[in-house]
Amino acid sequence: MGVDRNMRNIESDKEFENRIRPQALSNFAGQDKIVDNLKIFIKAALMRGDSLDHVLLHGPPGLGKTTLANIIANEMGAQLKVTSGPVLDKPGDLAGLLTNLNPGDVLFIDEIHRLSPIVEEYLYSAMEDYKIDIVLDKGPAARSIQIELAPFTLVGATTRSGLLTSPLRARFGIQCHLEYYDTQVLSDIVKRSARILDISIDDEAAAEVALRSRGTPRIANALLRRVRDFAMVKGEGHIDLDITRIALAALNIDSRGLDQMDNKILATIIEKFNGGPVGLNTVATAVSEEAGTIEEVYEPFLIKEGFLKRTPRGREATEIAYRHLGYDFGRTDEKTLF
Ligand code: ADP
Repeated sequence: MGVDRNMRNIESDKEFENRIRPQALSNFAGQDKIVDNLKIFIKAALMRGDSLDHVLLHGPPGLGKTTLANIIANEMGAQLKVTSGPVLDKPGDLAGLLTNLNPGDVLFIDEIHRLSPIVEEYLYSAMEDYKIDIVLDKGPAARSIQIELAPFTLVGATTRSGLLTSPLRARFGIQCHLEYYDTQVLSDIVKRSARILDISIDDEAAAEVALRSRGTPRIANALLRRVRDFAMVKGEGHIDLDITRIALAALNIDSRGLDQMDNKILATIIEKFNGGPVGLNTVATAVSEEAGTIEEVYEPFLIKEGFLKRTPRGREATEIAYRHLGYDFGRTDEKTLF
C-alpha cells in the first residue's frame, strides 16, 4: 500500500512551533510571577495609551522568551518585528528597522548580548528618547540628522545576561528572569500541545515526558513529537506509559532529562576532580565550554535538581550526581550498573 503524496502531512518545525506556541498570557503556563507582573504592566500601559516599557527577558534556551515577546505584542494589540543581535551588525540595519515601527510596536531582539558595540550605542537614544542620529555622507561632508521614532517597546532576550553591558541593562524598565519549569507545569504543557496536535496521550505518559525534558518546554514538545512517531509505528497511535518508556530508551534520553553537556560536567567533576570542590574555570577548560555559559545555561538546572552544589571553594558533585552516573557516593573506582 503506497502513501499518497498529496495526503502526506508535511509538518515543518516552524509550522509545528507556530501551532503550539501560546498566543496569550492566559495560555502561557508557569512563570507565575512574570505573568502576573506583565499583566499589570500591560494593563497600565493600555490604560494610559502608552507603549509598554522596554522588557529584558533572560534565562536558558527554550523557556519561552520568544513566546513571551509574541504574547506581549498580541496583548498590546501591536505588531511584532523580530531580529537578533548577530544579524544587526550595522547601525543602518537598526535604523531601517526602527524607522519602520508604528506607535506601540514591539521590536524583539534575540541574543541581545551579541549586538555590536556601535549598534548598541545607537540603541541607547532610541530606547531612551525615541530618537536616532543618522550620519549622512562621509569625510568632510559628513553631517548627522536626527530622526524621531514612534514610541515602541524593545523586548530583548538573552541566555547570557552576564554579558550585557550595564548601560544597556539599565535601559530596560522591566526585567524578567525565566526559571526552569517544574514537572507538573511541563506535563500540562505536553497535554496542551497534544490536544492542539490531536495526539492522544495518557496522564502518566505526559508526566514521564515532562520528567525527561530538562525543565524546558521546547524539549518537552520535541520529545512529544518523537514519542508520537513511536506510538504510530509500534502501536496504534495512542501514547501510553509503556510506549513512552520504549521511545525514550530508544532515543537515549537520560532518565532525569540531563543532556550530554550536563552529564559531561558532572562526569568531569566526579572522575577528574574527585567530586570537587573545583573552580568553575577549571571545569570549563576541562569540558571545553565557556565558564559563563556553564554558569548561566547549564548549572542552574543541575543545581535546581540537586546534582551540583556551589560552595565558596568551588563546585561539588552531590550524592545524586554520583548515583546518576552509576557510582557509589565519593567513589569512582567501581561503577554500579542499574
Ligand atoms: P526561547 O525563546 O526562550 O528559546 P521559545 O519561546 O522559542 O523559547 O519556546 C520554545 C517552545 O516552547 C515554543 O514552541 C513554545 O511553544 C513552548 N513554550 C515555551 N514556554 C511555554 C509556556 N510557558 N507554555 C507553553 N508553551 C511554552
